[in-house]
Amino acid sequence: MRCVVLTSVSLVAALLLLALPSGELSPRHCCAGGRWQRSETENNTVSSKSSESKMTSVEWATAPSAQKDLHVPPLQELADVLSRGLPENFELASAEVAPCPDLTRPPYNLAASGLCGNAELVELGGPPYLMPLVRRDKVYDLGALLRHLGRDPALLAGAGAGPWPHVGVNCEGIVNLSVRGGVVEQGTRIVTVEGGGATYRVRRLPANETRSALLGNYLLSDGAPGQVLKVTAEKRTGPANFITAIREALQKHYGDRVVGLGGMFVLREGRARFHVMPDFSATPMTSEEDLNRWLKFYEMRSPLTHVGTLVTGDMGLDLRLQHFHGWGEHGDGGHYHYDTTPDAARYEGYFVPAARVLRLDAPVETHTMGRD
Ligand SMILES: [Zn+2]
Repeated sequence: MRCVVLTSVSLVAALLLLALPSGELSPRHCCAGGRWQRSETENNTVSSKSSESKMTSVEWATAPSAQKDLHVPPLQELADVLSRGLPENFELASAEVAPCPDLTRPPYNLAASGLCGNAELVELGGPPYLMPLVRRDKVYDLGALLRHLGRDPALLAGAGAGPWPHVGVNCEGIVNLSVRGGVVEQGTRIVTVEGGGATYRVRRLPANETRSALLGNYLLSDGAPGQVLKVTAEKRTGPANFITAIREALQKHYGDRVVGLGGMFVLREGRARFHVMPDFSATPMTSEEDLNRWLKFYEMRSPLTHVGTLVTGDMGLDLRLQHFHGWGEHGDGGHYHYDTTPDAARYEGYFVPAARVLRLDAPVETHTMGRD
């Protein structure tokens, strides 16, 4: 049932909704408790181009699905392992068990207050849907995924490709979506290349747009407060970025017992190298060199809030070992590579160990490109 109250205030919103395909119009998106629901909007939210917005999404009930349990060490043990390992790459580093701060507050700006509760990792699709050539049929409705999995309340946060049908071009997705009582809080940002690569633009998706595309690496939890792994690091002295340093320290200690973390970190000071995907390549990309010529690279400014996942092994599921996207309220955003100002770099992160990996719609024919 389309639950659209045609008050003068909502008339514009209702007309916008009617431009969307009917499959996008579930009651959770348009109303809850009989009232129009959308999260805080920004002036720069975008409306769908009607022809492209009609792309059908991958059907979750029939999409290939696999899952494997992860090793879940006690939080204090993880903190101890990282306290020993992080000094290999940072002059100052600490890891401890701490209560999660309210992550809805700046500079975190997540769609749920915490990271805890039934945490698992979700890996969707993969780089083979981007290259050599794009698979435009790989559009994923993340709101529908949460309904399919029966997750409510839920926080879904991490790095992926944004919903190109929404904005008309390929884009980065900084997924930050929560559902509570059927109501979507959409904090996801998308980033597009503008001016042929001269610059980029970060936009927030409206609550009635819960799609993504191609690939994604997400933490899925209840978004509840609780004890988390707090990691801080300053003054990078080694070659590893913040996430690689954490992943390698865990891998070294746990070996074949694969550990997965999801969560967020803030680069509070310094700058970082990011990329933003431009629109899809019309010619096949068959090497990392092709990929890096196609991507647009920028140096971005702190504070930058990042969301994503890491795992210490592949488990035969064709997993991406780490993937974080970040954005700042000042208008920067994209895919995190590493800080470019090691002396000034100051990181603050919050993570939870995941109990399992849910691998969805994995490419049948895969390759190892595009995993950096
Ligand atoms: Zn990325």
